[in-house]
Formats: sequence, C-alpha cells, structure tokens
Amino acid sequence: MAKRATKRGDERTDLSGSRDVLICGASFAGLMAARQLAGSGADVLVIDRYEIGERQTSACAIPTAWLEELGLIESEKQRFDSVLIHTAHGSIRLPVPWSFSTFDYPSFCEMLWAQCDAEFETAKVNGRAESGTAGSPITIDTDRGEITSPLVVDSLGWKRVLAAGAHYQPPDQPLSRGLEVHPPGGNVDLEVFINRRYVPAGYGWSFPADDEVRVGVGSFDPYFPVRPTTDLIADDLEVGKTGYQGNWIPHKLRPATGDGIFFAGDSAGHCFPLTAEGIRPALYFGAALGMELRDVVEGRKSREEALTGYHEFSAGHQWAFDWLLRAQKLLPKIHPRLVKPTLAASFKSGGSGDYAFNKYLDIAPPEFAALATRTLSAKGQRRPRISARA
Ligand SMILES: Cc1cc2nc3c(=O)[nH]c(=O)nc-3n(C[C@H](O)[C@H](O)[C@H](O)COP(=O)(O)OP(=O)(O)OC[C@H]3O[C@@H](n4cnc5c(N)ncnc54)[C@H](O)[C@@H]3O)c2cc1C
Repeated sequence: MAKRATKRGDERTDLSGSRDVLICGASFAGLMAARQLAGSGADVLVIDRYEIGERQTSACAIPTAWLEELGLIESEKQRFDSVLIHTAHGSIRLPVPWSFSTFDYPSFCEMLWAQCDAEFETAKVNGRAESGTAGSPITIDTDRGEITSPLVVDSLGWKRVLAAGAHYQPPDQPLSRGLEVHPPGGNVDLEVFINRRYVPAGYGWSFPADDEVRVGVGSFDPYFPVRPTTDLIADDLEVGKTGYQGNWIPHKLRPATGDGIFFAGDSAGHCFPLTAEGIRPALYFGAALGMELRDVVEGRKSREEALTGYHEFSAGHQWAFDWLLRAQKLLPKIHPRLVKPTLAASFKSGGSGDYAFNKYLDIAPPEFAALATRTLSAKGQRRPRISARA
C-alpha cells in the first residue's frame, strides 16, 4: 500500500482566503498550468489531496520529445523506437518514427514542480461553495477551508469535481477502465496485446521501466471487469502481481470551460480514445491553459476572454478525438485473424506507418511544449503583481 505523506493535525492550517489563481489537482495538467505562471508574480495556490508525485496515476509512457522539451528528460526510465504488438494470431513490430519513453512519476512531478513558483498545500476539494454571479470570483470548498479566486482550474481527473450539475457515475458513461501491476522486472520491448483472451474491446500492455514493468489491461467497455485479466496477463508474462493501480479513463472530449471554471486533463476528457494516452494531452492543454491564465494575471486579457480562448482551443481538437474514437470502435470489430494483416497493411514501415504515427503525434506536438517553455520568464525575475481581472 502506498505510504501517505499528506499533512496531518496541526500542519493542516486553515487555507481560507483569496488567491489570484487556484489550481485544484497537482498531477500532469495542474502542474503544467502552474508552470506556465512561473515568474508572472501572481499568487498561485495548487492543492491536491496527496503530496506532489505521491500517487502514480498511470503507466507513464510518453513521446520522448515531450520530456526533452519540458526539461524533464532526467525522469526517463527507458526508451523505445518500436511497439511490439501481439495478436491472437501472431506478433508484429511497428517501427515508430520518433520514440516513446517510460518515466518515473515522482521524479517527473518533482522536476515539473521545480519549474513552478506557486504555493502547494494538501487539501481535499469538496466542490464549489456557492455559484455566485456570472463573472464574480468563485469560492471552492476544501477540507482546509473555503478558497476564493477569479481563476479556478479543475485538473482533478475524470470526476470533474467542480462541474455544475450531474457528474459521471460509472460504469454507464463514456469511460474506459484500466488496471495495472508494477512488479520489479525488466524487458526491452514496449508491448501491446490485442487479444480477446485479455479483453474483448481494448488491449493489454507491458511497459518496461528499467527495473520494473507496468503490466495491465484497458477496456473500452466500462462494464468489463479488468481485474481477473490483469492477473491473467501478469501470470502469462510471469511477473508478480504487486503495486496495483487503476482508474476510469475518459474517452470523449468534454467542454473545457463551464460556469467560470477552467478544466484541463482528464476532467475535460483530454485523453486520447483508442490509445488511452492521457499524459501528453494533459500537459498540452495544461500548458495552453497556463498561457491563457498568464495573459489574465498580466493584464492582457479579461477572464472572460481567457475562458473563450481556452474553450475554443480545446474544442478545435474535436476532429482528433472523433478520429480516434472511430478507430476505438472499429478495433473490436476486426476479426482476430485479421488484426495482424490489418496492422501490417496500415503501418507499412517508412510509408503509411510513419504518416499515421506522425499525424498522431501532431495532435499535441512536442513543438508546443517547446513554445510553452520559451514563453516562461526566467525564474526569480518576478514581474509586478497584477490582480486577475474578472
Ligand atoms: C492503468 C492506467 C495506465 C495509464 N497509462 C498511461 C500511459 O502510459 N501514458 C499516458 O499518456 N496515459 C496513461 N493513462 C492515462 C493517464 O493516467 C491520465 O490521462 C492522466 O493521468 C490524466 O492526467 P490529469 O492531470 O488530468 O489527472 P490525474 O493524473 O488523474 O491527476 C488528478 C489529480 O487530482 C487529485 N485529486 C482528485 N480528486 C481530488 C480531490 N477531490 N481533492 C484533491 N485532489 C484530488 C489526485 O490526487 C491527482 O493528483 C493511464 C491510465 C490508467 C488508468
């Protein structure tokens, strides 16, 4: 069981009061939004129920270039220039024209946080305290008091805690589900298993990360119980069944703003259907959001303009989510005997394969991470503080 390092007793002081920016959720999307505010002079508070990097939320595989462009390459554990896909009727290796890396979650978060100059506190977010009038600051209820801010970010994951109205109640929602084990071990290949032995609609995986492997099953059907077949794939691969971690995974884009709140990462459905790759989009949309918030705290935009700009930026990617969702629906319909020939025809090395992988990377390209890095002011050169305009 993961060790809880969260504050207790006297350390849990009252956080009530107001801030220029309140970011709820300190994983990929939230930390990235906070990073883009470094040097702005804004009073930014980031809160999460756990310490930063305490609870790993994924198998932590990402295109290597994103680690490089964000200055996080030291968190890399292992690099892969191909994906080895096992079907029920043979295996096929798909060369990738760029590389994937697995990384260490605590180091990644620690390094990303080192690029921020915000304040962090552990607190559980309960929801909105009151709705207020349109355009007025928003008050958030936490277990350490009520915190008010004109700029509130929900990067709390798929539950979309700060949304008004009814929330997703799984399983009857557009959610996939994933579960994995993290035993010690080693391997050279990033492996994907498209095999109904493990899941009728979805895939299994084995992602090595130097001295451990992350082995699991993801189902596009939220009703399919992934625990028995996560154990099955671990047994088949002869790895230990230790360090279980799993969650619901959104596979539909949701509005990135609502009732004055900015949503980023899984809370906005920023997780690609088919591949369930959610880290890169969480960083990508988190960066875009951070840049919008920076425009507000530095007086270049009103909050309403930032809400509109960010909403449109996110919605402008609907085509990509639709494209991948269509592929997600198609995959389980392919006869098991035809999966390998279909992959071979679709991913010809150097031709259609490179095209498909590059088009996929371009949905959230590493150049955007480079742009986000360039827009940061040098740390320590804080600009005069400008309060956010509502
Ligand atoms: C088994 C599995 C494996 C995966 N593997 C990969 C992979 O290899 N690569 C990839 O790209 N994607 C992967 N994903 C998807 C990826 O994990 C998510 O898309 C990604 O973590 C989303 O990032 P996020 O910042 O939006 O939310 P999260 O990473 O879920 O972070 C949400 C944060 O909010 C905090 N929080 C939640 N509720 C509250 C509350 N009420 N109060 C205070 N804090 C709260 C949590 O503690 C957490 O820190 C995987 C998912 C699963 C389930």
